[in-house]
Amino acid sequence: MQLLILPGDGIGPEITAATVAVLRAASERFRLNLELIEEAIGHESLRRFGTTVRPQLLTAAREADGLVLGPTATFDFKDEARGEINPSMFFRKKLDLFANIRPARTYPGVPDRVGPFDLVVVRENTEGFYADRNMEAGSGEILVTRDVAISLRRITRPACIRIARVAFELAERRRQKVTIVHKANVLKIGDGMFIEECRNAARDFPAIAVDDIIVDAMMAHVVRAPQRFDVVVTTNMYGDILSDLTAELSGSLGLGGSLNAGAEHAMAQAAHGSAPDIAGKNVANPFSLILSVSLLLDWHGRRRRIRAFESAASAIAQAVEAAVAAHETTRDIGGKLGTRETGAALASRLERA
Ligand code: NAD
Repeated sequence: MQLLILPGDGIGPEITAATVAVLRAASERFRLNLELIEEAIGHESLRRFGTTVRPQLLTAAREADGLVLGPTATFDFKDEARGEINPSMFFRKKLDLFANIRPARTYPGVPDRVGPFDLVVVRENTEGFYADRNMEAGSGEILVTRDVAISLRRITRPACIRIARVAFELAERRRQKVTIVHKANVLKIGDGMFIEECRNAARDFPAIAVDDIIVDAMMAHVVRAPQRFDVVVTTNMYGDILSDLTAELSGSLGLGGSLNAGAEHAMAQAAHGSAPDIAGKNVANPFSLILSVSLLLDWHGRRRRIRAFESAASAIAQAVEAAVAAHETTRDIGGKLGTRETGAALASRLERA
C-alpha cells in the first residue's frame, strides 16, 4: 500500500511524525509493506513553491492507495489567486471524498462527562453550506452589496442517496441503528430531500432501526444520552459541528479520528485543526490522526479484501485503548508523555501485540 503523507501546519508535523512511527510499526508487525511518500503542504508549501497545494500532488494522490493529511491552517488561506488553497477542500473535492466518517467513543481511563458511549457521525462531505466546494465554478457565497451577503447551500439527490447507503452499510456492521439529523422544519426542501433519501435507503436494510431528530434538539440529546445513538447520518455542516461535540464528549477533540472516503480514494485526517496555540511544544495528542489511519487501513483492507490490513487497523485501535487505560498519553487526557513519546510508546505496544 502506497500512502501519501502530508504533514500540514501547526501541530501537523508533530502528530504526523508520531503517526508515521505507528504506521511503520504496524507495517512491520502485519507485513503490510507500506510505502510512505512525504510531501509538503500548507504554509511550508506556500513558502517553498508559492502554493499551499501543488497540482502534481493531485496526480500523486490519485496514484497512491490512500492519503494522510495533517491539519492545516485553513483560516489563513483566503486567496486562491495567491496560491492559498484549502488543502482539505482540495482533496475532498478533487477526489470526490463524499463520506466523512467520524467515530466517537469513550475510553476506560479518560473521565467521561456523559457516561460511556460509542457512535459514528456519517457526514456528507461534498456540498451543503460549504461555499468553497459546492459550485462547479466560483463560490457559493456572494457579497450583494457591502452590507448584504448570501451564502448558498447545495443539496443534491445523488449525494443524499450515496451518503445514506454508507450510513446503513456501516450500521449493519454495528448496532443496527441509524439516526437522521436535519433541520427539515426550516429547510423543508433540501433537508426534506435528505430525509426522503435516507428513508428510501432504509427500505433495503429492514433490520436497521431508523429515527430522525432536528439538529438543534440533537445537541441536547447527544449531551443528555449519547448511548442511544449508533450511526448518525447528516449533511455537511451539521456533521462538522456535531462531530466536534461528540469527540469532545468522548474525552478530547484529540481522540476524534476521521476518514474521508469516496468510491476510489480515501484520506485519513484528524477531526481537529492545526492548534497553533500548542504547536511546536510536543504536547499535542496524536491519537486523532493515529485513529484516522486505523480507519484508512480498515477501508483499504475491506475494499481489497486483504485481511492483514483489517487486523492492523483493529490492532491500532486496541493499542490506543490500552495506552489510554495505562495513561501512556499526552496530558490532555490524563497522561504525562509528549507527542513524540506517545507515538513511540504506541509503536512499541503494536510491535508486542
Ligand atoms: P483547533 O481544532 O485547531 O483547536 C481547538 C482547540 O483544541 C485548541 O485549544 C487546541 O489546542 C485544541 N486541540 C486541537 N487539537 C488538539 C490535539 N491533537 N491535542 C490537544 N489539543 C488539541 O481549532 P482552531 O484553533 O479553531 O483552528 C486552528 C486552525 O486550524 C485554523 O486555521 C482552522 O481553520 C484550522 N482547521 C483546520 C482543520 C483541518 O485541517 N481539517 C479543521 C479545523 C480547523
